[in-house]
Amino acid sequence: MKFKLVCFDVDGTLVDNIEYSWQLFHDHFKIEKKKREEAKEKFFTGKISYREWAEHDINLWKEKGATKKDFFEAMKSSPIALMKGARETIAALKEKGMKLAIISGTINVILEYLLPDYEELFDDIFLSRLFFDNNGHILNIQATEYDMKGKAEALKKIAARENLSLDECAFIGDHHNDVEIAKEAGLAMAFNAKSEELVKVSDVVVKEKDLKEILPYLIS
Ligand SMILES: [Mg+2]
Repeated sequence: MKFKLVCFDVDGTLVDNIEYSWQLFHDHFKIEKKKREEAKEKFFTGKISYREWAEHDINLWKEKGATKKDFFEAMKSSPIALMKGARETIAALKEKGMKLAIISGTINVILEYLLPDYEELFDDIFLSRLFFDNNGHILNIQATEYDMKGKAEALKKIAARENLSLDECAFIGDHHNDVEIAKEAGLAMAFNAKSEELVKVSDVVVKEKDLKEILPYLIS
């Protein structure tokens, strides 16, 4: 078996009908565009880290008094869904003994909603986490630093710990933030891709929106 680790992006890859989960919640909580744009600008000009950007944006929801129930309401009233073939694909890869990882800039509530057993299914999980108090208010934030270029760092981190070469690692993603990790992975698959750049650096392009389509490239 050539590949021993398979890493997945979440928004647009494991989860359908979404580009970035952050936007869904910003819209739901009616966050002022100016506040979001300022932080985004600071990140892209190198003034703050990705983690600081994520913390800033989550704090905007916290200021609005967002509760766990509100996050679930936002998701229920949106078209998001688990990607077609996701469960079957995860099961097939696990059956072959492959390690599975999530390397994503998404937020844990998205997976809690659509794939509640994700912590049992995946061996490594990199995402941003929200923790709620007994009344459902945001208590703690654990923002990831492994989005954008950081995704490649997360891949290297897992590979080093598991004693794998990057050639034995595959990655599946859909957007701009997946470009750097796609360059590093032994097999990069652009799935349901919205980024020309990602398509360019990927080894395989999957156009049909069914995750099972990736299996022939991973399981010989
Ligand atoms: Mg994505």
